Amino acid sequence: MVSAIVGGPLIDGTGRDPVANGIVVVDGGRVTAAGAADAIALPKGAEVFDAAGRTILPGFVDCHVHCTYRARDHKEHLKTPPTYNIFKSQEILRDTLDCGVTTARDTGGADAGFRKAVEDGIIAGPRLLVAIAMICQSGGHGDCWVPAGFRVPKRFWLPEHVADGVDALRKVSRELLMAGADFLKICTTGGITSLTDDFDETQFSIEEIRVVVAEAAARGTGVAVHAEGLAGIKLALEAGGIYSLEHGWFFDEECLEAMIEQGTWWVPTLALVPEGVKHREANPKWDAQGIADEARKEEAIVARLREQIPLYRHAREKGLKIAMGTDQSHRLLTGENLVELAYMVEYLGMTPMEAIVSATETAAECLRMPDVGTLEAGKLADAVVFDGDPLADIAAMREAARFHLVMKDGEVFKDTLAEGAARPHAAAATA
Ligand SMILES: [Zn+2]
Repeated sequence: MVSAIVGGPLIDGTGRDPVANGIVVVDGGRVTAAGAADAIALPKGAEVFDAAGRTILPGFVDCHVHCTYRARDHKEHLKTPPTYNIFKSQEILRDTLDCGVTTARDTGGADAGFRKAVEDGIIAGPRLLVAIAMICQSGGHGDCWVPAGFRVPKRFWLPEHVADGVDALRKVSRELLMAGADFLKICTTGGITSLTDDFDETQFSIEEIRVVVAEAAARGTGVAVHAEGLAGIKLALEAGGIYSLEHGWFFDEECLEAMIEQGTWWVPTLALVPEGVKHREANPKWDAQGIADEARKEEAIVARLREQIPLYRHAREKGLKIAMGTDQSHRLLTGENLVELAYMVEYLGMTPMEAIVSATETAAECLRMPDVGTLEAGKLADAVVFDGDPLADIAAMREAARFHLVMKDGEVFKDTLAEGAARPHAAAATA
C-alpha cells in the first residue's frame, strides 16, 4: 500500500531548514521519498493524507518512559488485581503514541511481553526498548519496601531486581538480559518517589556498578543510570563506562568533562519536577496520594535546578550528547511528553529546531536505532502531522490534540486531519 502525506511544511528531523510545501511518500512501511512537493511525484493511486498548512514531522523518540500502570494511590493499588494493571497500561501506551511518540525506551516496568505485544500489533503503542526492571540496592530507588515491614509488589510480572553485592548484581543483570532486556538500568542515587531514600544519597559501590556495566557490555549493550544528586553522578562516572545518565540534574564541570570523555549520553528529563510541582499545586488530591515525601524533594530540586542553567548551556555548547527523555509514567506527563522540548529550549538554550532534533535524529542515535528519527528515504515510516508552527511556538507541542496524524511503520494510528482548520503558519510563508 502506497501512501503520501502532502501539503504541509516539512521538518525532517535532521536539523535542515523546513521545506515550505513538503511531501512524504510511504511504501511497505518505509519512507521512499521525502522533500519538496515540486521535486517528488505523488505516486498514482497513493492514499493521500492532506496536511494542508500543518507541519509534517518524524515520529518522536522518548528515551525515558515508564509505560506500565499502577494506581498512584496506594490504597487503590493494594485493592487492584495485578492483571488489571497490564490492561490499564494499554491506555498509557495509546496516549504516548497519540501525542506523537512512535519510539520509546522504557526504563523500568515494561517487560519483553509489552515490547512484543506492540510489535505484533496486539496493542497500540510506541515501538519499545525495555530495561524490564530498575536494578537497585536494598532500600534504594526502585525497592518497594514499606515501613510496615514488607515489599509492595508494584509490577508482579517483573523478575527480582533488588540486589546487594557484586555476585548478586551479576546474577540480576544476567537474569534481566536473559528475560530480554535491551539495556540495563541501575540507580546510583535515591529518587523522588521512593520511600526510603533521598535524591542526594549515593547508592551502590563502584564495584557493584562496574559488574552491571561489564555484564551489559558482554551482551553488546549499555547501562542507563538513574542519578539525580552530584555524589551519585560522580560515583557512576568514576565506575566508568555508563551509557546514559538519566536526570543527572546536579552534575558539575568535572562530571561534564568525564561524560564527554566517556561518550556518555545525557537524558535530562527537565520537565518532570517543575511540572510535578505545578501539578501538585493544582491537584491537592493527587498530591495526597504520594507516600514518599515527594513535595519536599521536588521543591528542593526545583529550587536548585535553575541555578544549573549556565552549566547546562555550557554543556550543550561543549558538545555533550543530549537526547530527549521525559520520565513519563502513570504519575505524570503521559500524553504530553513533548512538553519536554520547551524545557530543553529554556534550560539548555537550544533553538526549537535543536530541541526537535534531540527528540528525533539524536534520540534515535541514543537508542542505536538508525532506522527511525528522520523522514528520509529508507527510514521506517514514522511520521506525525502537527497543527502549528513548532519553530515559532515549541510549547504548543505538549498538546496531544494538535497531533492530527500519527503513523508508525506506515500504519496510521491516529487520523483527525479532517478536524478543524489549520492554524496560521510562518514557515509556509517564509521558507
Ligand atoms: Zn524514570
